[in-house]
Amino acid sequence: MSSQPLVIGKFSLGMGDRFAHEAEAQLAACLAAKKLGVEIVPVWNKSNREHNIIGSEPTSTRAAADAAVKALGWSAPYFLDADHIGLKTVDRFVGVSDFFTIDVADFIAQPADPAAVKAFVDRHPELVGTITLAGIDRPFTTTRADVERTAAKFLLAVQEAGKVYRHIAAVKGVGRFVPEISMDETDSPQTPPELLVILAAIADEGVPIQTIAPKFTGRFNKGVDYVGDIAQFEREFNDDLCVIAHAVRQYGLPANLKLSVHSGSDKFSISPAIRRALAKHGAGVHVKTAGTTWLEEVIGLAEAGGAGLALAKEIYAEALSHMDELCQPYATVIDIDRSKLPAAAVVSGWTSGQFVGALRHDQKNPLYNAHIRQLIHVGFKVAAKMGPRYLEQLKACRESCARNVTGNLFDRHIKPLFL
Ligand SMILES: [Zn+2]
Repeated sequence: MSSQPLVIGKFSLGMGDRFAHEAEAQLAACLAAKKLGVEIVPVWNKSNREHNIIGSEPTSTRAAADAAVKALGWSAPYFLDADHIGLKTVDRFVGVSDFFTIDVADFIAQPADPAAVKAFVDRHPELVGTITLAGIDRPFTTTRADVERTAAKFLLAVQEAGKVYRHIAAVKGVGRFVPEISMDETDSPQTPPELLVILAAIADEGVPIQTIAPKFTGRFNKGVDYVGDIAQFEREFNDDLCVIAHAVRQYGLPANLKLSVHSGSDKFSISPAIRRALAKHGAGVHVKTAGTTWLEEVIGLAEAGGAGLALAKEIYAEALSHMDELCQPYATVIDIDRSKLPAAAVVSGWTSGQFVGALRHDQKNPLYNAHIRQLIHVGFKVAAKMGPRYLEQLKACRESCARNVTGNLFDRHIKPLFL
């Protein structure tokens, strides 16, 4: 093992592989980008929640990633992300992961110790007043009361991140993993001035974060396009990049610190905005995708026809009849209109082309149905329950599943963002 600290490159793509059968097809998308001269660091992520729903262990993600890297001869770095972990859930990941998404969203707005808040604001007079940041035309204007309010809201969360970071570092060693802090799974977005306060606090806490996942403005629903004010998103995304560049200089955070966009798959309408912002600021980014790959598996099954199509229809029927249970863990990140979901009996009569047309994320196709897509997105538990029957079909339909997985990541995600 080298003594160089692990550093994640400029562009990285989080990829989820719920059933550990697609790592090679996913890596093929990064390989295609590399052949065109752009290095996209693959990061396989799977959350504790996904492992629990599927009944898998992080060692299976490691085995699948290592096998894919070997099979395709990938010689550049790659990582395994313990996604959305906290103190209670991190231990099963510590051995195999080298990237940790420390999720402290639940601690936001829990009251911090007033003395700690006062000490923080006393320590940071530079955060009060008019703050001019390179790249932002309108300076931030803040009062001491503003900074106190922001610190009171986020300080406990940052302190919790510190605890988790030190817990991991005690086992793995400092510099032996990439730490990310995520605050995306919460109610309200963090504004760029709040991000500056948060980064100052993270630096004080001594966490050498390389990626930070704020909650951005707008809806980042699972597996479907962005919903919100694209111009406002672009403005804030640009401001966030300037805040990060400033915080790196001002607070000595790692030079490669970058934004992490969670639920980043399928947000096609903001891809051009992200791309423009990265180019303008010379910034890097981590884009996290997950369930979009599982959706491509189902598309691959349906496209194969025969038993594959029959299984895809069965998954839809089961998901429809267990909809409430399946949606519950994802309630804040889906918007399904039940009246737009066809009855199982209707879908059972569909051709391969009809099923694929409804599910594939092509908004120009009149058959496309974002409600079906979100339902299947949260419906992977159905496939997990099918066990070997599902996995056998994955093998039988290998060509079409792999082709759809690779094509989705490369054509619809990597190309518009990075190529
Ligand atoms: Zn997230």
